[in-house]
Amino acid sequence: MSIRIALAGNPNCGKTTLFNALTGSRQTVGNWPGVTVEKKEGHLRGYPDVEVVDLPGIYSLSPYSPEEVVARTYLVEEKPEVILNIVDGTNLERNLYLTTQLIELGLPTVVAINMLDLLQKSGDVLDTGTLSAKLGCPVVAISALEKTGIDEAVGLALQTSGVPPKGLRHHYSGALEHALAHIEEAVLHDEPENIQHWYAIRLFERDSKIAEKLGLTSEQVDHIEKDIVACEEELDNDSESIMSFERYEWVGRLVSSSLHAAPRQLSISDKIDQIVTNRFLALPIFILVITGVYYLAMHSLGAFITDWVNDVFFGKMVPDAVSGWLEALEVDEWLSNLILDGIVAGVGAVLGFVPQIFLLFAMLGIVESCGYMARVAFILDQVFHRIGLSGKSFIPILIGTGCGVPGIMASRTIENEADRRMTVITTTFIPCSAKLPIIAMFAGAIFHEAWWVAPAAYFTGIAAIVISGVILKKTRLFASDPAPFVMELPPYRWPRAGALFRSTWERGFSFIKKAGTIILLSTILIWFVSSYGWSEGGLGMVENMEDSLLASVGNAVKYLFVPLGWGDWKAVVATITGLIAKENLVGTFGVLYGVGEVEETGKEIWAQLGASYTGLSAWSILVFNLLCAPCFAAMGAIRREMENWKWFLFAIGYQSVFAWCVALCFYQLGMWVTAGVFGIWTAIALALVALGVYMLFRKGYTVRIENMVNGENAVG
Ligand code: GDP
Ligand code: MG
Repeated sequence: MSIRIALAGNPNCGKTTLFNALTGSRQTVGNWPGVTVEKKEGHLRGYPDVEVVDLPGIYSLSPYSPEEVVARTYLVEEKPEVILNIVDGTNLERNLYLTTQLIELGLPTVVAINMLDLLQKSGDVLDTGTLSAKLGCPVVAISALEKTGIDEAVGLALQTSGVPPKGLRHHYSGALEHALAHIEEAVLHDEPENIQHWYAIRLFERDSKIAEKLGLTSEQVDHIEKDIVACEEELDNDSESIMSFERYEWVGRLVSSSLHAAPRQLSISDKIDQIVTNRFLALPIFILVITGVYYLAMHSLGAFITDWVNDVFFGKMVPDAVSGWLEALEVDEWLSNLILDGIVAGVGAVLGFVPQIFLLFAMLGIVESCGYMARVAFILDQVFHRIGLSGKSFIPILIGTGCGVPGIMASRTIENEADRRMTVITTTFIPCSAKLPIIAMFAGAIFHEAWWVAPAAYFTGIAAIVISGVILKKTRLFASDPAPFVMELPPYRWPRAGALFRSTWERGFSFIKKAGTIILLSTILIWFVSSYGWSEGGLGMVENMEDSLLASVGNAVKYLFVPLGWGDWKAVVATITGLIAKENLVGTFGVLYGVGEVEETGKEIWAQLGASYTGLSAWSILVFNLLCAPCFAAMGAIRREMENWKWFLFAIGYQSVFAWCVALCFYQLGMWVTAGVFGIWTAIALALVALGVYMLFRKGYTVRIENMVNGENAVG
């Protein structure tokens, strides 16, 4: 018979690290919550018939977040042969809170106290024997990272499968135990004995999902309600608070009897945190770090390599070599044009930015894995909270700097529906890796490689998220209290070279893969529609690109963008192709500006581009494309997460209108300030700014909690 070992534990306790060690797989390990939303399965190394399941990280078994539902449904319905409960040994109180709930489930359980290495370093001594006796199940200390104690944990898990825990009985106060016993007696005596206690606790907390699952009649519900109310009156609190209070008390006693803590000194981590999370320094440091990351990756180091790759490699060497081959092979002129002016110019333009992308991923990887990004989430939560937003939205944004699709999916960790929707709408405002080539291209072609362009784009994204958040929160659609955000700050660690290299390579390589597939196809298509057109009554190759099919499409819609300062068909067409994949903007500009004298100097494409736009109009194109509707893949993710067409259309519409307004204001007010141009659009831009300020500072729509509790009118 095969055995399933379910790994359960708090977010960030090391489940995935252990899962990888046990199964030899390479799931993403991250030190912020929400990285594992769905469960993952694998086989125990050397035991083909033992399955290991990595459940999402949870703090409790209440049904309040999607992770909790996934984990608890799996445990209750699938009944794995054994639960391996991973406990972060450096944070026993919070972690054991879940442990007590798992044991109450009555399934065979082994508790693995993880992070033994850190415990030992701190000088704390943990008495696993006492813990095991009090919990009524085997307890073992391990380090998932250093792979110590893992074999012992596996051995214990295999031995324990089929042996339910002795159970946690009679640890709570008399009044509570009395109520639980009554509930068991009244409605649960037909259920398996192991799980009765858990059901009783769930029912005591008025968990309607459980009442439904057990098929209780309304008389039964009324009956146990009397027991619950009696206990509530006796202890003068509501049932959920009673339960969690007594549980914490019990866990507190458990910890103080089994952990002999060494006297605490401020660790280096704590000292760094005193500065980094300081009330006044936190934000400036965050801005400095991000600016530094983008500066190094995009400007100094990155630009140096990218210049060479763009100017010499893709600018001269590749085109020369390819045109040499094409001549030698004597291919048709149209095909040689397609390959040189289409594929080499377009895909080459995108691939030219590969070094910068890799560098940026490596830099972001370092900032993440050393633990700083966890602090950023913490810092931004405090800022966000003050303006009614939740720091939970930051994790999707962080993931979104790689790619918007997983970023949008990570919004699932937000329980509050309104907050979750808002995060789905705003996550793609942050520049993903596909938008970096656009930023780098404009920085190079128009802004003389100014260092501030990339950080400015990043902070424009953050500002768009905050402003949208505040504006949306004040509307009836999104009004809600910001979700509380609990996370531990992991100690700072030196990034591990291997893991860093792997994650950089994986993220960077998917960028290259995209260039070889979707971008390649797009540039071929763009080359065709920019080379063919209606001339002399038929479809044929056109001399002048202005007569091409592409130009006529661009010319038809360009009027929308005239007020934004870039009503020329090339930029409009590039923006449209950006909906397929954002790198296409660069590819399209490469095709459209790459025709002609490319062989002379590599810089030709960017020089032509630079001559076509002013700084203001280029910034307007950039801002519009950073904020407008994302690529189709991300739109698909938004559609899936919204589970509803209306919300999907609202999201896409909001993003596009917002982007249009912001670009308009930038351009029109910029023209006014720099060139003194004042027209009807300047007035409209001023009106939009005024409207924005009003929306930001007006009194918002508030949710009345007391009404929700009474089950009357939810919003008032
Ligand atoms: P999960 O959220 O439970 O899946 O946790 P992860 O496996 O993603 O690990 C969270 C963080 O804890 C990562 O940075 C790991 O490298 C780190 N970690 C995991 N196990 C250990 C351990 O035994 N010792 C130390 N020092 N760090 C660990
Ligand atoms: Mg995980």
